[in-house]
Amino acid sequence: MAQFVDKVRIFVQAGHGGHGCMSFRREKYIAAGGPDGGDGGHGGSVVLHVDTGMTTLMDFRYKRKYSAENGGNGAGSNMKGRNGQNLIINVPMGTVVRDAETGDVIKDMSDCEDYVLAKGGRGGWGNQHFATPTRQAPRFAKSGLPGESYDVELELKLLADVGLVGFPNVGKSTLLSVVSGAHPKIANYHFTTLFPNLGVIYLGEGESFVMADIPGIIEGASEGVGLGHDFLRHIDRCRLIVHVVDVSGIEGRDPVEDFITINDELRQYSEDLANRPMIVVANKIDIMQDEDNLNRLRAYTDGLGLPLYEMSAATHRGTKELMRVVYDRLQELPPITIYEPEYVKPLPEAGDSQELTIEHQDDIWFVSSPWMERLIADINFDDYESRMYFDRQLRKCGLFERLEELGIQKGDTVSIYDFEFDYEP
Ligand code: GDP
Ligand code: MG
Repeated sequence: MAQFVDKVRIFVQAGHGGHGCMSFRREKYIAAGGPDGGDGGHGGSVVLHVDTGMTTLMDFRYKRKYSAENGGNGAGSNMKGRNGQNLIINVPMGTVVRDAETGDVIKDMSDCEDYVLAKGGRGGWGNQHFATPTRQAPRFAKSGLPGESYDVELELKLLADVGLVGFPNVGKSTLLSVVSGAHPKIANYHFTTLFPNLGVIYLGEGESFVMADIPGIIEGASEGVGLGHDFLRHIDRCRLIVHVVDVSGIEGRDPVEDFITINDELRQYSEDLANRPMIVVANKIDIMQDEDNLNRLRAYTDGLGLPLYEMSAATHRGTKELMRVVYDRLQELPPITIYEPEYVKPLPEAGDSQELTIEHQDDIWFVSSPWMERLIADINFDDYESRMYFDRQLRKCGLFERLEELGIQKGDTVSIYDFEFDYEP
């Protein structure tokens, strides 16, 4: 039996930037040509893409590491390295992406827009990039910057307005199939539904909603396949719960007891879910043996102030009317929960200035080190705050004191990977 997978942890690694090239033009009769080393290509990014055909995270079960392509190295004759290909990862709609360490939400994939999860590293500059009228033969090229990487947890939380709950065999799948185009498995034995099913219910022009039939709470647990409450995550976002109860008495069950048991299960999963607006449906009235079952259930739900509707999903009695009631109720309820991003990427800190490699050529000072590489890869130079942060880190680490000791002059260029500025004491 296929096991349903709706929570996985994966590691994503964006491609590293390719290295810049150091090279000089060679031409006949020209003793020393100009610099012509091309830049490295950019590393590919890891991009998440919603595939509306996917309904589980099963594809991630055996593959845990995802890497985008590195950028190619630059070459002579001003040849830029090839950019690395992005890696597109398909995920089902409603996948919530969290930082695996902190559990903070990085992104809720609940619209259809692609999301760049890990950015590729920028390519390093080739030596032609450093050439200026006064600096004609730069013997420098830069290595590419590292791509971002993350350990993330993917969790599937379906986007449905309505969640069906109830004991196995009460008729949840039947209801979904008769009111929507969905074709869930229906069988007269327990444990049939191991995958959540989504159905769209159209009532008329512009009137529709989405209903989810999740594997029963009880059935998975009693199967011992470790499902338990896991499936309830799929109705976590639901605006309304439709609780289906079998009142036929055909299986010798007591509808009030069933109703209480399921509500207890909801409460164990989360108080919030247990308090979600609910509509109760008494199903299988076509084969009801004893009206007493229905009456007792009604007395109980009346006591809770919950509306109860009679239905026979198999014979389509009351199903359309129920969908109308559900739709009207939804109009009064808040929209589906979308999880706001909470994750803030920690900015890398400057390390020890003694670890910096400083090379000096003409009027240019090249600064590099592993921590500097990480710092500069993660700074967004389009953003003022980030640039200020970077500036503070450079001051904090004592870079300028070291440069002064080494004899830097006003107006010299400080070059840190693909970032350059003129030195002002
Ligand atoms: P689920 O486990 O809640 O999804 O239940 P299913 O929809 O798979 O239904 C279980 C069994 O009950 C199937 O054999 C259905 O045909 C039957 N069933 C569902 N609704 C009704 C109903 O209203 N009347 C009768 N007589 N049988 C029903
Ligand atoms: Mg079912």
